Amino acid sequence: MARENKADKAETLWRTAVHEAGHAVYAWFSDCFITVRKVTIRPGKNSLGETFDDRRPTKTRRSDIIDDIASYLAGMVAEELLGLKRAACYDLDAATYLATDLVQEQGMGRRVGLRHVDEDTIVSDWLRSLIDRDIRDAMNEAYRLARKSLARRKSAIRAVAQCLMEHQTINTKDLERLLGPKV
Ligand SMILES: [Zn+2]
Repeated sequence: MARENKADKAETLWRTAVHEAGHAVYAWFSDCFITVRKVTIRPGKNSLGETFDDRRPTKTRRSDIIDDIASYLAGMVAEELLGLKRAACYDLDAATYLATDLVQEQGMGRRVGLRHVDEDTIVSDWLRSLIDRDIRDAMNEAYRLARKSLARRKSAIRAVAQCLMEHQTINTKDLERLLGPKV
């Protein structure tokens, strides 16, 4: 039993390393991010690991928001690409929140269009279904973006994850060494 437990722990740690590496590698190669300051697989209060990145402050274009959503999905996508079982995490909450905001607050849903929608103004099932489809589209678009970026960077994900297994916490300099200069 003890050995099994140890194996489970090692598996969780590796999955966390791959997950955080996914966030870090995605942000590193996205020009919506200025830098990635720190990546850690030391457990925090609500997480198994964390990636600290600096986003560019502008979020005026639909593509910026989609990119932001993709950065949240990147951890899960990395787990998928490396054939690991996906772990439950808060990223999907954050991603869905941003996609909902894009449609209901920013007027950037393709079907709903330029209008502000809150619970009081959703007067019809028809509008509700447009909102749902727009949110789903935004999520799918972001998922495809994350997958497109990370599918060709599997070895980079592995390298960052291995470095995390070795050091637990890594910084911008380590990422530069592993991935080259920030895009
Ligand atoms: Zn995550």
